[in-house]
Amino acid sequence: MGYKVLIGLEMHCEISNTKTKVFSSARNGYSEKANTNVRPVDMAFPGTLPVVNKEAVRLALMASMILNCTQPEYLYFERKNYYYPDLPKGFQITQETKPAPIGSFGYLDYEVNGEMKRVRINNLHLEEDAASSDHYSSGSRINYNRAGVPLLELVTEPDFRSADEAVAFLETMRSIYQYADISEADSKKGQVRCDVNVSIMEDNLDEEDPKNWGTKIEIKNVNSFGGVRDAINYEIQRQIDLKEDGKYDEMPQQTRRWDEDSGTTIYMRSKVDAIDYKYFVEPNIPKFKISKEWLSDIRKSIPRLAHERKEEYMNKYEVSEYDANILVKEKAVAEFFEKTISLGANPKSASNWITTNLLGQLNKLELTIDEAKLTPEHLAELIKMVEDKEISSQQAKGVFTESLETGKSPHDIASEKGLKQITDEGEIVKVANEVLDEHPDVIEQYKNGKTNMVNYLVGQVMKKTGGKANPSLARDVMAKEIEKR
Ligand code: ADP
Ligand code: MG
Repeated sequence: MGYKVLIGLEMHCEISNTKTKVFSSARNGYSEKANTNVRPVDMAFPGTLPVVNKEAVRLALMASMILNCTQPEYLYFERKNYYYPDLPKGFQITQETKPAPIGSFGYLDYEVNGEMKRVRINNLHLEEDAASSDHYSSGSRINYNRAGVPLLELVTEPDFRSADEAVAFLETMRSIYQYADISEADSKKGQVRCDVNVSIMEDNLDEEDPKNWGTKIEIKNVNSFGGVRDAINYEIQRQIDLKEDGKYDEMPQQTRRWDEDSGTTIYMRSKVDAIDYKYFVEPNIPKFKISKEWLSDIRKSIPRLAHERKEEYMNKYEVSEYDANILVKEKAVAEFFEKTISLGANPKSASNWITTNLLGQLNKLELTIDEAKLTPEHLAELIKMVEDKEISSQQAKGVFTESLETGKSPHDIASEKGLKQITDEGEIVKVANEVLDEHPDVIEQYKNGKTNMVNYLVGQVMKKTGGKANPSLARDVMAKEIEKR
C-alpha cells in the first residue's frame, strides 16, 4: 500500500533588523554579552508597560504583504498565559487568530527541483521571544537578552507532500527575510526555529477532504533545515511502520521532539492534555488603527526579492539560469554582483568571476563574501584590465587570488609583479627623451664609443616607468632615439 504525506510548518523567525525589542527600548542584540540588553519591562518589573516598536510592526506588515496575506485594520495583541523560568512575566504577548493577526490567508509560490509550487499561508503573527536558558553542571542560568526580541510566526496549511518541498519553502522564506531586510534569518544564531506537523494517509483517498487525513503528529523546535528534512523523513517512516504493524489506530495525536543526536523523534506529550493558555486581548496595548496610507508606503518600499533579481540577471544581463540561481542564493552575493556591474564591469564577466572563482575560493578559505578582502571595486578593475589587454586572462587569475588574499588592488599587484606593461611606443619615446635630456654626459660617452651605455639609459627608462615599460621595446626605442641626438 502506498501513502500520501501531509506536512504543515510553523516557522518562527526573529526579526533581527530592528534596533530595539518589540515592546521595550532594550537593544535587539541577543548574541551580545548575557543580560546586557535588558530593560525593566523585559524583566516584568511591577508597574512597567510595553511600548510597541513601530519598526517591528512595519517589517511584520511587509512580510505579510510578501506572503499575499490580508493585513488587519487594527493592530492588537493577546496574552498567552503560562509559566516558565525563561518567561518572567508569566505570559507571552502574541497574536492569536482572533480578531486578526498581522497576516491571514495568504500563499507563497516557491520553486522545488525546478518546479513551481504554491503553499497556502494560514496566518502570520508578531510576538515576543522568550528569554533563553543555558544549562551547566552546577545549575542553569537565564539570559534575558532574548526576552522581548520581535518574533514572526508563520503557519502554513498542510500543503507540503515531501521533505524536499518543506525545505525548499523554508529556504525561500529565509531568502525573503534576508532580501526584505527583515532578518538575517540565521539558524546558526538560533533565529529560525520550526515546528513540523506530519501525517500520512492511504494513497487512493481524496487529499482535499480533511476527513481522510491521518493523525497529526507535531514535532517541536527543530533548529536547522537539515533537521527539518531528517525529522520529516524519520516521522513518515515511523508512521508507515505503525500502519504496517497494525498499530497506527492506537497512536494518539501528540507532540514529539526531534533528537539531533539519535536522529529520531521522541514522544513529549499527548494533544489530549494540551495546555490551556487562557488567551485574552493584551490590555496594556491600546487599539491602533493601521492606516491605508501606511500600508501603501510599506508596499512601495518592499525591496527587490531574489526571484525578481534572478529574472533581471537572465533577461537584462544574459546570465544563465544556473548562474543566476547561484548569484541570488545569498543576498550579499547578489549585492556584490550588482555593485561590480554598477562600476562599469561587463555583467557576464562579473558573473563568471563570482560564480566560478570567488565563491569557490571563499568556500575553501571558509569566508563569507562580506569577509572577503577582494571588493567589487577590485573585481571591476580586474575585468577592465583584461578587457583592455593590460594583462592576459591567465595572469588575471593569479592577480585575482592575490587580491583576495591580501586586499591589494589588481593594479598594484600587476605593477608589483611587472605584469602590466606599457606597450605604447609613443609613450616610451617620450620617456626615453626625458632620460636623454637628463643625461647629456651619458650621450657624450656613447658618442665617444661607449655604446654599452645604452643599457644604462634603458635602465633609466624602466626606472621612470616603475618597471612597466616593455623592456625590448624600450631597448629598440632608446637605440633609435640616441642616434637622433
Ligand atoms: P494545533 O492547534 O495543534 O497547533 P493547527 O490546526 O493550528 O493545530 O495546525 C498547526 C499546524 O499543523 C499547521 O501548520 C497545519 O498546516 C498543520 N496540520 C494540520 N493538520 C495536519 C495534518 N493532518 N497533517 C499534517 N499537518 C497538519
Ligand atoms: Mg501547533
